[in-house]
Amino acid sequence: MGKLPMRARLATTLGGAAGTMSRLAGRGDGSVIGGVIGLRVEPHLLALLSVDRRIVLVTGTNGKTTTTRLITAALGALGQDIASNAFGANMEAGLAAALGKAPDAPLGVLEVDERYLPAVIKATNPRVVTLLNLSRDQMDRAAEIWLVARRWREALAGAPERWVVANADDPLITWAASSAANVIWVAAGQAWQEDSWCCAVCGSHLLRDELGWRCGECSFRRPATGWVLEGGSVIDSAGRISDLSLTLPGRANRSNAVVALAVAEVFGVEPAQALPRLREVASVAGRYTRLPRRGRQVRLLLAKNPAGWLEAFDVLEPAPTPVLLAVNAQVPDGKDTSWLWDVDYRVLRGRRVFVTGERGLDLAVRLEADQVAFDLVEGVDEAVDQVSGTSLDVIANYTAFQQIRVALGRAE
Ligand SMILES: [Zn+2]
Repeated sequence: MGKLPMRARLATTLGGAAGTMSRLAGRGDGSVIGGVIGLRVEPHLLALLSVDRRIVLVTGTNGKTTTTRLITAALGALGQDIASNAFGANMEAGLAAALGKAPDAPLGVLEVDERYLPAVIKATNPRVVTLLNLSRDQMDRAAEIWLVARRWREALAGAPERWVVANADDPLITWAASSAANVIWVAAGQAWQEDSWCCAVCGSHLLRDELGWRCGECSFRRPATGWVLEGGSVIDSAGRISDLSLTLPGRANRSNAVVALAVAEVFGVEPAQALPRLREVASVAGRYTRLPRRGRQVRLLLAKNPAGWLEAFDVLEPAPTPVLLAVNAQVPDGKDTSWLWDVDYRVLRGRRVFVTGERGLDLAVRLEADQVAFDLVEGVDEAVDQVSGTSLDVIANYTAFQQIRVALGRAE
């Protein structure tokens, strides 16, 4: 902190005070408003706060918050302080606030919104950039992912001292990462392939087989990988196989963990040191936690887009455990719910399904089409009261998730 120029120190102090005021006023954890004020006083605050730190950036459509948490856990083996925006405030103000709050931390692990990655790379000069996946977030952003990938590619070009850790199973991620000087390729899988049928180089159709994907017309193909998720195990860069045995459920989280292990190795942390720490992570920003409610256990899963719904289905307790689906269409969710039609809901047949949310009727129509039986309910408690067993899984999109957390007494 003492090394910061006067204006940056002032910006951090004012930002911190604003954050405290915001917290006292009951408006969230205050980190974003603190960062906003800080950046207004010193526009280069993020760059100034990044000087002399080793920074890891994490981006992608899905899994950012969880992977950021897992990388932070793995790097804990180094025994140094780590600055992180653990609660997902992932634009410039949130990042500045996270670094400002931990002025002496030599490490920073930061989740970054996809659209802000180029600017944040410029400001923070990261040691590692982690690219998870890229797919439609909301229908109204559909055309953007190609543009986003192009901007990443430009921002990552060169930089011989930087490492990019990238998911080789996602063709668009591969294209974006392959401009970088040093790439660690991870076979992290790709459950959702509907947004990547075209070659990013020549526009032809991509072919997929057991060896991965390749273009039918040009030489663009899946690169060889140093890290592989194989069932419940990881094969590391030295070819050693380790059992993951995570507490977090589902395939998507196993692949996030493999990415975290690859990042940790850049900092000299071996899988044997990192894995016990990854296994301790049981919930991330309220997700996966079991909350007691009226004598039953409610577990919350977040799904913001088609790819996220597939991941959530994979994590559901086995049938007949009932599930509540909650859909809103506020600004953070995307106003257009037509993406609901891209998801295959037939996997829900054979279990009790409840539907709620401001756009529950849109989802109901979609379930009808897939011949999935359901009951419309007012909210989480009405579903809880109708459950015959002991547990209820909830899949909700962004604002619906926050509303249910409030209803269950777990958030402001
Ligand atoms: Zn091609």
